[in-house]
Amino acid sequence: MDEEVVSFLRKVYREHYFKNHNLVEIPSMMASREFGYIPFGGGMVRHLSFKNPGELFAELVKQAPSSVFCSNAIYERPTLQMDEKGWKGADLIFDIDADSIPTPCKTRHTWWYCNVCHKGGMGTKPARCPSCKDASVEQMHWSCHECLNATKVHMKRLVDFLQDDFGIDRQGIRLYFSGNRGYHAQVRDERFETADPQMRTEIANYVRGTGLSLKVQDKVPGHAEFGWGRRTSLFLAASEGVSRPRRNQKLTNQIVDANAALIDESVTTDIHRVFRMPGTLHGNSGLLKMKVESLEDFDPQNQPVILSGETVRVRIYYSPEFFLKGTRFGPYDSSTVQIPIYAAVFLLARGLGVLVN
Ligand SMILES: [Zn+2]
Ligand SMILES: [Zn+2]
Repeated sequence: MDEEVVSFLRKVYREHYFKNHNLVEIPSMMASREFGYIPFGGGMVRHLSFKNPGELFAELVKQAPSSVFCSNAIYERPTLQMDEKGWKGADLIFDIDADSIPTPCKTRHTWWYCNVCHKGGMGTKPARCPSCKDASVEQMHWSCHECLNATKVHMKRLVDFLQDDFGIDRQGIRLYFSGNRGYHAQVRDERFETADPQMRTEIANYVRGTGLSLKVQDKVPGHAEFGWGRRTSLFLAASEGVSRPRRNQKLTNQIVDANAALIDESVTTDIHRVFRMPGTLHGNSGLLKMKVESLEDFDPQNQPVILSGETVRVRIYYSPEFFLKGTRFGPYDSSTVQIPIYAAVFLLARGLGVLVN
């Protein structure tokens, strides 16, 4: 990344943490958690510990990191290497990304970018850049209302599983916008704190409907039940009169598609995860990871846009159009533009441009 861009981003993030450190959500048992961060243009720094919020805030202002993380686990000795930390338990966590939900809109905002000559184009990435022939072409994704809404639907399904099937109190389920293209859920329920990776894998498979084999024919529509059985009954009741596949597995797949929550299982099964901290900025977008009180009312292209609306002059190598704060930006193709800092950071943090004096 361009030196000047790095110092610009650090300045913007530093100002943010100086003014808005009150937005950072301090985890329970703070002193027993592992913290980590990624500096702009650098690698992950882990195994940190902070005794109190003041210590953490001071470090955020000092380092102005691109991303800040905190362990879902609590440890006896959080600063030691993994096998010496003394794992005591971990919150149950979930991540649903817009990229992993199959929606037809994908083709409209999937694009590629050449890290060598800075050319870009729409669609799936070519093996080599058509312009400079280099192979360091990156697959890029923007998101839109359609896929972000689909992600919300999967989040609602997840909450339904957690409440109805696992008996978790709604108060114990915190939902967050990830700061990029997805949503996180964090569960506080002591029954799951000491769950090992195997049990977490079973939970992940259950909500994804992985390997599910339903004896669909046995289900009476409207029959009062719980779990996947209830979902099957409701599906059959809703699709009465519609022609259904004869083969049991095919019908099962339809029921799974209509009900499963497509979480990223690698996040849920990891008991040593350092997870993005709520109230911190995402390193690739400048958007805030923030708590979502109501999924219905939450607008991921508006509320998490927290950086300044003052404008800055930038040259953007390439970007398809995107929307922030109700404003359309782009498409850009080697364009010099004066845009708000929040939109500039959205692009510069991904290395898509440079500052222009
Ligand atoms: Zn190229
Ligand atoms: Zn979309």
